[in-house]
Amino acid sequence: MITDSFGRIHNYLRISLTDNCNLRCFYCMPDEQYSFAPASKLMQPDEIETLAKIFVAQGVNKIRLTGGEPLVRKDAPSIIERLTELKIKLAITTNGVRINEMLPQIIAANFSQINISLDTLQAEKFRTITHRDHFERVRANIDLLLTNNIIPKINVVIMKDLNDNEIHDFIEWTKDTPIQVRFIEFMPFSGNRWTSNQVYTLHDILTEVSRKYQFMPVPGDKNDTAKHYQPEGHKGSFAVISTMSEPFCDTCNRMRLTADGKLKNCLFSREETDLLTPLRQGEEVLPLILDTIRKKAKELGGQFSGAFDHLDPSDIENRSMITIGG
Ligand code: SAM
Ligand code: SF4
Repeated sequence: MITDSFGRIHNYLRISLTDNCNLRCFYCMPDEQYSFAPASKLMQPDEIETLAKIFVAQGVNKIRLTGGEPLVRKDAPSIIERLTELKIKLAITTNGVRINEMLPQIIAANFSQINISLDTLQAEKFRTITHRDHFERVRANIDLLLTNNIIPKINVVIMKDLNDNEIHDFIEWTKDTPIQVRFIEFMPFSGNRWTSNQVYTLHDILTEVSRKYQFMPVPGDKNDTAKHYQPEGHKGSFAVISTMSEPFCDTCNRMRLTADGKLKNCLFSREETDLLTPLRQGEEVLPLILDTIRKKAKELGGQFSGAFDHLDPSDIENRSMITIGG
């Protein structure tokens, strides 16, 4: 078991396959001039498999693939195939742009969960957020999954004066479709020009939903980051990930491996531990893993607390979201 100094057992690993992406969401990768890591710096399929097996031998039972956009990697199908051999739940978070090109492999992977990020139901706003024109494709790919009996969760980063006026549209979508819409509070990362007054909180979201819908809280799993709600009479449901206004660090079981093979013990950790170089040099990496998690801070990487009103994002030392793996 991988345990930190607060007794939290860590059995969930998120692996970023790449820092590259076919979208340019301004809150994730703000600078178009950003240069992606060269292929030689990225973990190769056999290295990902080797590291994943080390974590699984220590009790990890869930791995989520993320990025950047995990499905832009040409060898993503082969990485996915290798990881399906492990006795774990395998999940993926994707922007959905390439799902139609990889449907057979996605079906074969039998993912325990597929999360698709879609912050707006309006084509023009999609372009403003992502700087690309792929709204229709992502929307069609969600339907493609549904027709293949794969029910995705939809990740929506909610920001004041950007898409908070679409909350009812997203809830309406759950009326006859069994999706779960997950509203995510806007988080600060290096270079994303975060300000506290753009954060639309859990409280704001519930207030807005209750103006039109009746809903009940639904209990979640022990390590859930999301708070779940069931609108009355809807086939689908919604949830809120309240990292900023109500962090959930007490039950955190997550570790993150960046595409260049660095282990982060928290999304907001300042420090990271290189696992790839020692692995390539034939050195043991397990002691590095155990030591990194042992040093995990109590909450939010030790960099801020739940009171975010006066938070200055320049005080937080971290990578940009696209290079961490969300
Ligand atoms: N490209 C994939 C995607 O968009 O789903 C996977 C990587 S992306 C970094 C993972 C998740 O992080 C997405 O749902 C995205 O919306 C979310 N995200 C990125 N930057 C964020 C931020 N500043 N605050 C909150 N969520 C963010
Ligand atoms: Fe790409 Fe996902 Fe970041 Fe958008 S949120 S830029 S799709 S990695």
